[in-house]
Amino acid sequence: MGDGNMRFETKCVHVGVAKDSTYNSCITPIYPTSTFRWDDLQTNKGFDYTRSGNPTRQALEENIAALEGGIDCKATCTGMAAITCVMYLFKPGDHIIASHDIYGGTFRLFYRVLSEYGLTFSFIDMSDVVNVRAALTPQTKCIWIETPSNPLLNLVDMAAITAVAKEAGVTTIADNTFLSPYLQRPFEFGVDVVVHSTTKYLNGHSDVVGGAVVTRHQAQAERIAFIHNALGLGCSPFDAWLVLRGIKTLGLRMEAHQRGAMVLAKMLSEHPKIERVYYPGLPSHPQHELAKRQQRGFGAMLSFDIRGGRAQAEKVLTGTRYFQMAISLGGVESLMEYPETMSHASMTPEARQAAGITDKTIRVSVGIENPDDLVEDMRQALDRA
Ligand SMILES: *Cc1c(COP(=O)(O)O)cnc(C)c1O
Repeated sequence: MGDGNMRFETKCVHVGVAKDSTYNSCITPIYPTSTFRWDDLQTNKGFDYTRSGNPTRQALEENIAALEGGIDCKATCTGMAAITCVMYLFKPGDHIIASHDIYGGTFRLFYRVLSEYGLTFSFIDMSDVVNVRAALTPQTKCIWIETPSNPLLNLVDMAAITAVAKEAGVTTIADNTFLSPYLQRPFEFGVDVVVHSTTKYLNGHSDVVGGAVVTRHQAQAERIAFIHNALGLGCSPFDAWLVLRGIKTLGLRMEAHQRGAMVLAKMLSEHPKIERVYYPGLPSHPQHELAKRQQRGFGAMLSFDIRGGRAQAEKVLTGTRYFQMAISLGGVESLMEYPETMSHASMTPEARQAAGITDKTIRVSVGIENPDDLVEDMRQALDRA
């Protein structure tokens, strides 16, 4: 089924799903095959080898492309594989601008791996578009956008940045993992390519790792498809099936996630042991107005600084019943983690400091449990810290 004029939740359930014309199964079959039989020297049924394409993976790709409003999608084995895939659009000598508080693994790939292959990077404060303009050089080929950022929930004004990028002939790529296309669609603000870690909200059940690259320009779509196959980045049919299954409830889950996040953020912002809460849904967030303009909701990631430091943070992190201390995010269960030694350990201490990540910072991925249980649980852990 194509996306026609379906509304978002309907697309989640239907787009790409009907792949079985033999038995008309309502759910996409898993095609666990590496290879496909040819009828004669010219003819196969559209697939020849699973690295290059697989019906289950294609179902997922059609679905995600529709959710983001793109023309094509390539599903990868991890989010980092998706980011690796798009970075092959660039060549030695090219310069890339990124924010200083991007996902730790992305920072590591850029700073520790791709810099050794001749790409150059500027990590800047992207909350003000003036800084982006100042960082442009004649070699700049890409502006990397992550909004909201990880872990401090700084926003990047996508419309302002894509305007600057278009003037300079620079490709913009947005990592839309933190909000999912239910709450934010970067293409609507002029972004050229969207990437996802489907490990997070798209799959939503913490039982698979995966990624996706979504394109909207034909030439870029073809180049990405070529790279995806040439590098062998595709996800397995089993993983594709799980993510497609997860996406069916994306809208419902995001509503439940952000309902809990708002209640928790309010409680935290009134708690005497909390110095600062980072959540775009609070009017105190410096970019609250931008969040209202650019997002359809505030999402369910938040961070806070606890008074004291590491010892107090550890008490909170180990003192809850429902918030499990683990990295990752976007699953139905609530998680809490300590960026300094966990999600952002791969950043240099200087880079963490520049990004404002301290020993007081705790990041929370709010699950879909009853918000009252979450608030009670967090409050008792804070009271004892
Ligand atoms: C998790 C994550 C990634 C990397 O995805 P993996 O599936 O872990 O490889 C990239 N960007 C963001 C924002 C993430 O949260």
